[in-house]
Amino acid sequence: MIAAKCAECGHVHKVKDGNEGRKFNCRQCKATVKIPSPSASGGGGEAFEEEAACQTPGT
Ligand SMILES: [Zn+2]
Repeated sequence: MIAAKCAECGHVHKVKDGNEGRKFNCRQCKATVKIPSPSASGGGGEAFEEEAACQTPGT
């Protein structure tokens, strides 16, 4: 899942993987929200790094 935050109202939308780079209308304020690419380098997604660390396969 990808977290796309609305720049207008700050509402965070959960979108499925594969929609990176697409745009949609915020359900809260109808503003255009662009879906970030979590796997892209230089994205600055700290939350994604933290999530990935929790899923580290040990064995
Ligand atoms: Zn919004």
